[in-house]
Amino acid sequence: TLSRIFNFSAGPSMLPESVLERAAAEMLEYQGSGMSVMEMSHRSKVYDGIIKNTEKKLREIMSIPDNYKVLFLQGGATLQFSMIPMNLLVKNGKADYIVSGSFSGKAYKEAKKYGEIHLAATSKEDNFSHIPTQEELNLSKDADYLHICENNTIFGTTYNYLPETAGVPIVSDMSSCILSKPVDVSKYGLIYAGAQKNMGPAGLTVVIIHEDLVGEPQEKTPVLMRYDEQVKAESMYNTPPTYAIYILGLVLDWVDSMGGLSGMKEHNEKKAALLYDFLDGSRLFKTNVVKENRSMMNVTFFTGNEELDAKFVKETAAKGFSNLKGHRSVGGMRASIYNAMPMEGVEALVKFMKEFEAANS
Ligand code: PMP
Repeated sequence: TLSRIFNFSAGPSMLPESVLERAAAEMLEYQGSGMSVMEMSHRSKVYDGIIKNTEKKLREIMSIPDNYKVLFLQGGATLQFSMIPMNLLVKNGKADYIVSGSFSGKAYKEAKKYGEIHLAATSKEDNFSHIPTQEELNLSKDADYLHICENNTIFGTTYNYLPETAGVPIVSDMSSCILSKPVDVSKYGLIYAGAQKNMGPAGLTVVIIHEDLVGEPQEKTPVLMRYDEQVKAESMYNTPPTYAIYILGLVLDWVDSMGGLSGMKEHNEKKAALLYDFLDGSRLFKTNVVKENRSMMNVTFFTGNEELDAKFVKETAAKGFSNLKGHRSVGGMRASIYNAMPMEGVEALVKFMKEFEAANS
């Protein structure tokens, strides 16, 4: 018998059960091919169908315009912290970065190796509890791009606007919010995401890049890290993460069955509202995040008493909820409620929080 639990992990995280069931059904033999997708040559006709179809579905679901390329890469979102400056710091050699949390801080630090990097704004002084507003931004007119991290997985904050940049392309880390709601891809120069939250298993990184940004990179950029080579090779300069790409295809079918990205948004808003409404009325639990930047994907909260936080995490684990401990750099708790977390998971969590509150305050 199965004993699957509500897994609130920040990533890798829950996948839709129907996706896992389909993968299990196709595990030993994929659609009459005589083998598992894991065993297939990436150059085979069957696999070519899988990767092309996955790209086609992603283009449909995200309404990706034809003048954007889609790449299926490896190295996590972290490798993009290096690839982005190596490939894009080629016109003026300058870029702006907004540091709104831990990952954008890492991206900023890495980019400095490759050009003149300017800190457009940071919310470090208030412990990353808000996203810098347009008025707080100090943007350069001649930047090759502006880098943002659209959803801060660790702090539980998200943008409620897209910066006005007067034509400077926006590069966005969407690792923890991609596919959670509709986005206008045409407003971005480049979108990237590690797959292990809303898209599938770890090992795959999706990059969506405007064709005008695909050009000659900085000298000595390793061949595998060149967008132009990856575009030319259709993500197959070397062996791509074949199985993860196949699972992304299954996840996209599931997103489609949920009503596409507008259906996902509705589903995610309901889950997040249940949790935030409870937090707002709670005597015991609170969140630091300002209302207008609350993430629908990662909900951070705490009691204000470290021992009580630890007790809560311990009791939730005993109840069959996993990974509710906040990131080690922040403390407290964090519930990651990505696309695949069902409403019942959030309802069960809120029910337990109410019981805990009654017993401990
Ligand atoms: N950016 C964001 C917003 C993330 O949440 C993460 C991982 N949690 C990363 C980057 C790093 O991703 P990876 O582990 O795929 O390199």
